Amino acid sequence: MILRVYLACVILLISETLFAQKGDPQMQYQLSFPQAKGHYVEVTVRIDQQDTTKTTLVLPVWTPGYYKILDNPAHIIDFKVQASKGVAIDWKKTSKNKWTITHPKETELEVAYRVYANRTSVAESNVKDSRAFLANTDIFMFPEGQKEAPISVTFQLPETWEHIATGLEKINQTTFYAASADVLYDSPFYLGNQKMIEFQQLGKEFTLAIATPEGLDEQQFVADLREIILRTTDLMQHIPFEEYAFIMMEPGGGGLEHANSQAVFTYGSFDFKTDSDYKAFLNFITHEYFHLYNVKALRPIELGPFDYSKENYTTMLWVAEGFTVYYEYLIMRDADLITEEDMLQYLSSHFQAIENKEGKEHMSLERSSYDVWNHFLNNDAVSDATTISYYHKGPIIGLLLDLAIRHESENEKSLDDVMRAMYKTYFREQQRGYTEEEFWETVAQMAGKPLDELRHYVETTETPDYEKYLSYGALELDLTENDDPSTERVERAYQLKRKTPENKLQEEISKALFRNYF
Ligand SMILES: [Zn+2]
Repeated sequence: MILRVYLACVILLISETLFAQKGDPQMQYQLSFPQAKGHYVEVTVRIDQQDTTKTTLVLPVWTPGYYKILDNPAHIIDFKVQASKGVAIDWKKTSKNKWTITHPKETELEVAYRVYANRTSVAESNVKDSRAFLANTDIFMFPEGQKEAPISVTFQLPETWEHIATGLEKINQTTFYAASADVLYDSPFYLGNQKMIEFQQLGKEFTLAIATPEGLDEQQFVADLREIILRTTDLMQHIPFEEYAFIMMEPGGGGLEHANSQAVFTYGSFDFKTDSDYKAFLNFITHEYFHLYNVKALRPIELGPFDYSKENYTTMLWVAEGFTVYYEYLIMRDADLITEEDMLQYLSSHFQAIENKEGKEHMSLERSSYDVWNHFLNNDAVSDATTISYYHKGPIIGLLLDLAIRHESENEKSLDDVMRAMYKTYFREQQRGYTEEEFWETVAQMAGKPLDELRHYVETTETPDYEKYLSYGALELDLTENDDPSTERVERAYQLKRKTPENKLQEEISKALFRNYF
């Protein structure tokens, strides 16, 4: 039809203009799903002319944010290479995640392969007849040494799939553009018939994609998300994106943060049974949203640029993850979505999870970060006895640091100032990650002196002087013993409680901490 041809031309022109401004995509991917029911993705990629005679394609073995080596290459099958003009092309595997292609110079390559995508985590793709979640790190390869090359991705969707949700820049209805492999790997896709809701906030575009929207009170939920976005922006005083996508999938466990999107599993329904279930879900969304500042934009120096072929070690996940847990509560409290009592309960749960387990005697917080590659998501008796989680001790140290900075600075400064200053210096001005020393220097700057004792608690297994630090904010721990005879270790309540402030400073710190401004 004429109209269609005309539209196609317009789209082509727009695409060409956009590509010309950004740099042509040097890899053009096409994805289709003729065997979605069997969990397959068909991939073809055209790679621009090469000025070498060898091209090695690399498939990541992990996804940033999910600190575990995965067997992604095991799911690649039917790998083939062709070149234009009938030139014969040889290839061989040169390591577990690398395919090396030998070819004449200046040859445009066309590579095809299939991916069996039937795993279920936020870091692994899953395809079925009704929809596809693409984690991208287990689908797309990049030429070794050319991670910075622009990439385009075009989908041929099954007829019954209507929508594509992603944080990636859209060129037309089915084509997306990534300025580099890093950008592509940080922008998962959800393809199918999910409910799509769009809204604007603070001049930015937000997309909400919900796979199982039953029971959704759209107005209330969007209003709550708006409040979370507003309070987070107040805290960090900047928004590092133009568009953001909330991808909310089927029931399952976990969520993953991305530069301008998040992909999370849900309860499978928005008909929350209790108020506390709804609050827990909002906390979770807030966590992934705050990550776009803490771990994406502002990040430990070891976390980006990434080596996708092996472990990327850092001792700072207690800041990147632990503080993100702590800020869930502060942002949710600031948005008035949880009460002060809720905040005390959430914080108490972390003291209980650390102090009632043997693992605290064997693993420091710093070690729990570095060794995450050994114990990520392990949750059994042995891991309880031998390890700790930065998801628990991280927010505790966040709270103690916040209290100490407020105490030392007469409540003029707080952990918020540390986060803002680091974000400004290392992300906005220097566009790099921060080192451990730079983190502690920023803390010292805000507190007016180094907080060496707290650093010692991060680097060793010594139990922090909770009484001292908590008293700065008129708080204390209830240490009542749990007399359950079935537990071998003495367990205590570790319930965080308010106590009467002893002076004006404690009262002010307590009010500021609980965002109790009135
Ligand atoms: Zn997290």
